[in-house]
Amino acid sequence: MEDLIQRAAQDLIKARYGIALTGAGISTESGIPDFRGPDGIWTKNPEAEMKAYEVYEQFKTNPKAYWEERLDPHGSMSRLFSIFGEIGKVQPNCGHYALAELEKMGVLKSVITQNVDGLHQKAGSKKVIEYHGGIDKFRCIECNRRLSTEELNLEKIKIEGKLPPYCQCGGVIKDDGVFFGEPIPSDVVEKSQREAWKCDLMLICGTSAVVYPFASLPQMVSPSTIIIEINSEPTPLTGRISDYLIQGKTGEILPKIAERAEKIQKG
Ligand SMILES: [Zn+2]
Repeated sequence: MEDLIQRAAQDLIKARYGIALTGAGISTESGIPDFRGPDGIWTKNPEAEMKAYEVYEQFKTNPKAYWEERLDPHGSMSRLFSIFGEIGKVQPNCGHYALAELEKMGVLKSVITQNVDGLHQKAGSKKVIEYHGGIDKFRCIECNRRLSTEELNLEKIKIEGKLPPYCQCGGVIKDDGVFFGEPIPSDVVEKSQREAWKCDLMLICGTSAVVYPFASLPQMVSPSTIIIEINSEPTPLTGRISDYLIQGKTGEILPKIAERAEKIQKG
């Protein structure tokens, strides 16, 4: 294990363009349950899960009705969005901070995450591509412009009877989080592909990367790209796509890698 940590630190320092892919595993260590495990968010809230499957269709069919229900504190979406509200209060852990540190050192160029919790940004990572959007913001479905909760005063729009909210471009605004059945926003797909093509090192942290289209990213890299996996268990990537697996918690392994990398960098 120590050898692998040293190897990863050396590989990172040598890399010209290193990126990280992250998934639920890095956030479960901050106390965010996964979705389908025994204590998973959907496992414990089957109704919210059912709702999660319906909301995109609802939004597409009638965005006004979607937003009215979405903002109704007793409406059928209230449980679903209160879960997201809880997730928004969670704090980053050592794994998130280590990735932010590696970016600051110039070793990592970006993080592409499947998580919607915003913890990488909270930890200080600057270049974060949120593959499935973020729960703390909104997005115009036409021009992909993102708006923060401060920029979009939903209560005011609701009181004025102007729902659904519209972007300057005329497009309807929805929650930025990508719902079931919703395509990944085109700008995110393009940016992620460019990062995957460009990188010569990919760190895969806390994800088995089996859900498409995210799962296609490790397969897009050039053949010489080093892929390092940090996961608690072997995954379908292990021994096939990744060059090596460092098995364990991202919150323990990533800080060790960052520390070693810093030593090597300082000489
Ligand atoms: Zn727009």
